[in-house]
Amino acid sequence: MDFEALTIRNIDRRFKSGDVTIQALEDINLTIAPASVVSIVGPSGCGKSTLLRMVAGFDQADNGSITLGSSPVSSPGPDRGIVFQQPQLFPWLNTIDNVTFGPRMRGISKDVYVGAAERYLAAVGLAEFSKHYPYQLSGGMRQRLQIARVLINEPRILLMDEPFGALDYQTRLDMQTLLLDLCARYKPTVMFITHDIDEAVFISDQIYVMSRRPGRIVKKFDVDLVRPRRYEDVAATNNFMRLKLEILGLLKVSHCSDRSLCGEL
Ligand code: ADP
Ligand code: MG
Repeated sequence: MDFEALTIRNIDRRFKSGDVTIQALEDINLTIAPASVVSIVGPSGCGKSTLLRMVAGFDQADNGSITLGSSPVSSPGPDRGIVFQQPQLFPWLNTIDNVTFGPRMRGISKDVYVGAAERYLAAVGLAEFSKHYPYQLSGGMRQRLQIARVLINEPRILLMDEPFGALDYQTRLDMQTLLLDLCARYKPTVMFITHDIDEAVFISDQIYVMSRRPGRIVKKFDVDLVRPRRYEDVAATNNFMRLKLEILGLLKVSHCSDRSLCGEL
């Protein structure tokens, strides 16, 4: 897969509700290089989902620009594959029909999409479950299916909003490892939203840390860990721990710089 950089420049987003205006995002700048995994970490309510929704084309900025390669982003499109915390599956379709839905809608020939679906299902560990319906799958399996369903469309970028947030700890680790495997194999560009620092450090090439509302980028980190990465190999290393603690420290500072919020806590 051949991808281009995502560039976010000077993004502001305000929400008006009656007389009250909430500044959700303030002067956001970031770049995601092709084939890299970039996480955005920040406290709940700092505007992470708002930012991702703008990249998805579901919401518009008040100022600034978003470009994918040379194309400005202004509306939704199949060049961006989205994975939310709750998989968006068709409950009346079995696994293989869920995966092939996108290619079928785009008029791709059956000879092509059946082979592709089998490959992606094998890649996410669901080869044996192609005839199962979503209700017959566990939460982790449903999220694997969602990922296969998105990857088969060969999007230019994968947008993931806390995709593993609803899963238990062990399943979440398995999913993070799966994502790393898929990244090694297919080299997608990934924008990954999470508030789990451990997760961000484990999977990312770069991490942007955001402040509490109004959400701003506080700092960008390069993650200096070997690839391929196994959690058991990296989680106790100095690099991993140092980065995790530094990000935790930044989030605490951003927490307390907002007096109104500290008052509430
Ligand atoms: P996060 O994903 O980091 O938890 P969100 O992006 O969901 O944060 O929300 C950021 C802020 O913007 C919150 O204060 C939220 O209430 C506000 N917000 C988000 N979407 C809307 C909307 N459509 N209308 C009004 N306020 C919104
Ligand atoms: Mg969110």
